[in-house]
Amino acid sequence: MSSGTGDGTSTLSGRGAGTAVVVGAGVGGLATAIGLRRAGWTVTVLERRAALERYGTAFGIHPTAQTALDRLGLGDALRVRTVPYRNARIRRPDGKVLAALPLERIERRWGRPELLMSRPHLIDALLAELDRLGGTRIEYARPLTDPGALVADLVVGADGINSAVRTAYFGTRSSPRPIGTVAWIGIAGFETGLYGETWGEGRFFGMTPVEPGRTNWYATVPAATRARELREAFTGWHDPIPRVLAETDPATWVRYEMRHLYPALRAFAADGRVALVGDAAHAMTPNLGQGACTALLDAEALTRAVAAAGPDGLPGALDAYDAERRRSAQRVAFGSRTLHRFMTARRPALRDALLRMLPG
Ligand SMILES: Cc1cc2nc3c(=O)[nH]c(=O)nc-3n(C[C@H](O)[C@H](O)[C@H](O)COP(=O)(O)OP(=O)(O)OC[C@H]3O[C@@H](n4cnc5c(N)ncnc54)[C@H](O)[C@@H]3O)c2cc1C
Repeated sequence: MSSGTGDGTSTLSGRGAGTAVVVGAGVGGLATAIGLRRAGWTVTVLERRAALERYGTAFGIHPTAQTALDRLGLGDALRVRTVPYRNARIRRPDGKVLAALPLERIERRWGRPELLMSRPHLIDALLAELDRLGGTRIEYARPLTDPGALVADLVVGADGINSAVRTAYFGTRSSPRPIGTVAWIGIAGFETGLYGETWGEGRFFGMTPVEPGRTNWYATVPAATRARELREAFTGWHDPIPRVLAETDPATWVRYEMRHLYPALRAFAADGRVALVGDAAHAMTPNLGQGACTALLDAEALTRAVAAAGPDGLPGALDAYDAERRRSAQRVAFGSRTLHRFMTARRPALRDALLRMLPG
């Protein structure tokens, strides 16, 4: 493994660099590895899977996460493989429009649109950038089993909702909690031309663009719903929802149990050398479309603080990271959980009346 900056890696600070182990090669781990490499750190990534999972759901990339990607040097990749998300509505199962998703408001506020990018493309872009920077070793089929044995200046837990790093350094007070629903997700091989979310009683269905000729969809239903019951759960809902389910192969659907981390962690950093990013730190329900975005924001903030301080200033850098990200990420997680309750309301009439009062 190479180290230092002789391979063309740009340094964000001139204060020297150390060694880091990043556990987990998801969005958060790969983005953290990129930020550390750009600061000249020697990075090893440990990934428990033999290869990275390549399922095809689309991530919404909020403008703030786009800025984080720009700062990590991934702005170009972002622009090539994304589509803007606009003109999406919240509907009732009979098709009546209740409100607009706030996409145009987001675009006005931040000066650029929310973008959609398929998860495989984002993972590929992160891997390509790591490869271009050189000097990072990704060890696949390497589940971390003994966090205490890790020898490095910095240990980053980017190992998702069941984080072994979190359990080892932060205890089990905060742990994954099911919320009673599952999400089935998939890609339809045609463009529906109609996007947004349809909210029913205890369930909802969403459709977004993802790339030409395809539609990204997700269906949230009570946890006991099996794949063969999904089509039935949306029978009678407005076009093209039944068609999306009928024309996609259930073998390609991906099932997620909806869970979040509860209660919220008291710190994102420990021992002056350990930090958590992404789902390991604040796993949230997907309702606000912020899981990957917040992982990117964490990675950028952590590596910016570490680059500015250098290895000698690591404890202070981790405190600064905690101060910048913890409350903000936990507010988003709380908002997402609250929105989940609202979206899956058992008596939707009041909810729908409230929705109709929202500005368009
Ligand atoms: C239906 C649905 C829709 C979503 N839509 C969006 C969206 O539109 N926008 C958005 O921003 N987010 C969305 N999300 C959330 C998003 O998928 C995740 O929150 C985000 O990918 C978190 O990234 P991460 O790197 O922290 O964790 P993960 O992606 O879980 O990565 C963790 C990695 O660590 C590895 N690992 C785990 N344990 C170990 C171990 N012991 N040793 C070594 N490696 C280990 C895993 O194999 C994995 O590769 C959605 C989620 C769902 C369920």
